[in-house]
Amino acid sequence: MIKSIILLSAGLDSLVVLGYCKDKYGIDLALTFDYGQKSAKQEIEASKSICNFYKINHKVIVLDWLKNITKTSLVSKNNIPTENLGTNESAQAVWVPNRNSLFLNIAASFADSYDYNYILFGANKDEAETFPDNTEIFREKISDLFQISTLSKPKVIAPLINSTKNDIVRIAIENSIPLELVRSCYDSGKKHCGKCESCKHLKNALLSNNGERYINILF
Ligand SMILES: [Zn+2]
Repeated sequence: MIKSIILLSAGLDSLVVLGYCKDKYGIDLALTFDYGQKSAKQEIEASKSICNFYKINHKVIVLDWLKNITKTSLVSKNNIPTENLGTNESAQAVWVPNRNSLFLNIAASFADSYDYNYILFGANKDEAETFPDNTEIFREKISDLFQISTLSKPKVIAPLINSTKNDIVRIAIENSIPLELVRSCYDSGKKHCGKCESCKHLKNALLSNNGERYINILF
């Protein structure tokens, strides 16, 4: 029987990877990371609700040193960009250096200790254009690395890596994945701010898929 770990931020991509792949890959453990990001509390709460919904184990990993070595507005006092979105500058402002590599390496330590076969994460086609740790070459190379750095040799997979946000919302709706539990916003408000880059992408994808009912709940 195969079993898998998922990196769960409670954002659209990781929620849909969990809902879509839980049975196929036997996902039974989710890791959520608290690296001092503005939305940490909301991401952890939403991740707990998602894990309760899917009846899987949940661990929060605290990386409190990461905020000291990143200038990203996700963790600093700088405001999250809400203007000139889609530019190099706005992407730089929310870049956390080497984040997915770091998180996947931690997941690989869990996998190696408890014999997990796969580690899943929520890379998508849109973000691969901006963030190098969302690309297929990154996924392939880090998966290759674990074949030589661990005993249990977990494989890294990103089932939505060729899907756009629009595709991912469509998959969620078609598969009755609970989009009302999503937490995508970069900021710390109780509800999604509707103005940051992540909110804008989610909102547009929901609008394109007749998902107004979720907009009313989330924003
Ligand atoms: Zn937002």
